[in-house]
Amino acid sequence: MAEANNTPYPYEAPVSQGLFDRAARVTPGGVNSPVRAFGAVGGTPRFMVSGTGPYLTDADGRSYVDLVCSWGPMILGHSHPEVVAAAQEAVARGTSFGTPGEGEVALAEEIVARIAPVEQVRLVSSGTEATMSAIRLARGFTGRAKVVKFAGCYHGHVDALLAAAGSGVATFALPDTPGVTGAQAVDTIVLPYNDLEAVRAAFAAHPGEIACVITEASPGNMGVVPPLDGFNAGLKALCQDNGALYISDEVMTGFRTSKAGWFGVDGVVPDLMTFGKVMGGGFPAAAFGGRADVMAHLAPAGPVYQAGTLSGNPVATAAGLAQLRLLDDAAYAKVDAVSEQLRALVTEAFTKEGVAHRVQNASNMFSVFFTETPDEPVRDYAGAKAQESFRFTAFFHAMLERGVYLPPSAFESWFVSTAHDDQAVERVAAALPAAARAAAEATA
Ligand code: PLP
Repeated sequence: MAEANNTPYPYEAPVSQGLFDRAARVTPGGVNSPVRAFGAVGGTPRFMVSGTGPYLTDADGRSYVDLVCSWGPMILGHSHPEVVAAAQEAVARGTSFGTPGEGEVALAEEIVARIAPVEQVRLVSSGTEATMSAIRLARGFTGRAKVVKFAGCYHGHVDALLAAAGSGVATFALPDTPGVTGAQAVDTIVLPYNDLEAVRAAFAAHPGEIACVITEASPGNMGVVPPLDGFNAGLKALCQDNGALYISDEVMTGFRTSKAGWFGVDGVVPDLMTFGKVMGGGFPAAAFGGRADVMAHLAPAGPVYQAGTLSGNPVATAAGLAQLRLLDDAAYAKVDAVSEQLRALVTEAFTKEGVAHRVQNASNMFSVFFTETPDEPVRDYAGAKAQESFRFTAFFHAMLERGVYLPPSAFESWFVSTAHDDQAVERVAAALPAAARAAAEATA
């Protein structure tokens, strides 16, 4: 376990800054995924060189308690010996064959065994590929074009799903980014999250046209905004009544919020589900699956094309399987307990400093909203955006300076692992009072 560095953290990170400058010369914005650039909080992104248990070490030699966990996958902490050993053994046998292999069968069997609605599953390499393929399959299966998604839900950078602008009943979305054409977004209907009436109205306005409703099983991409009681069940019923498929995106929640992900929490049975993050053990592995009669439409069994050179990669599947097999009831109890401890510490620190806030959680995923109305749940994207996110910026940097690595945006879930032990929690506790003060003193 990495030794916590308890010396005060000089704010500068000269080695990281040098690497960032180098990176910016050869890579747009200096990063390979935008949020890593610290755009929302400013400052120098930390270039990490190693991770052990709950700690990350940056290129300047400082260690941090990691509350990002690679955006979810590292639920056993970094460099878990059994996951590393599984990957090393697989690497030694060869890194890619482009043929079927037993490892991918074993991983598929593990997913099918854990998640009852998944009768068949197809492995891919990223969550984006999983949602893109699930939507293509839903369209191919139903012979319909339109897709309903919710504002604030992120499903990867699938063209049709980057349309998040606009809300209200049956609003045709404008593409959210240059490069996505009107044609790619015209069949996407973006609705406010947690609003079943809006979904009902969309089905009424487009009879026989909606192929599927896709939703994060419990959203973590606008901060943590769980579904209201009955929302997912209502979506399922509306889909069923209108001949559309209900797609539950569990890329973030899958194998994290319980052994069976969010399905294990609310029990609503989707037609299709998507997975990623935890199931890859830190490697690129993702999946989509569900009803066997729907999955039968996928090539080569059926006509809907979908493929991948590295799909079911032997190293990724070995690491993913090793990670899933370690995730028993005791592991989830531990992750849940650490999450609860941290939520209590965060609440205590902000309360002491008189910072209006609300901590929301979905099982062990959680985030903080700096909201003026802390007694009211944040239910949708509009509510999430109404928070005073300038307070998060001050809070983030004060935590970073004290050796705690938070997601560099107020609109992201925090993630913990089984490796977050008392020492790591104490280090977060030690950083919180000053960081809460920084949040209290922040100005827009
Ligand atoms: N779906 C959800 C709910 C996600 O949170 C993400 C990524 O954060 C994705 C899909 C896309 O996954 P990936 O980044 O592996 O493409």
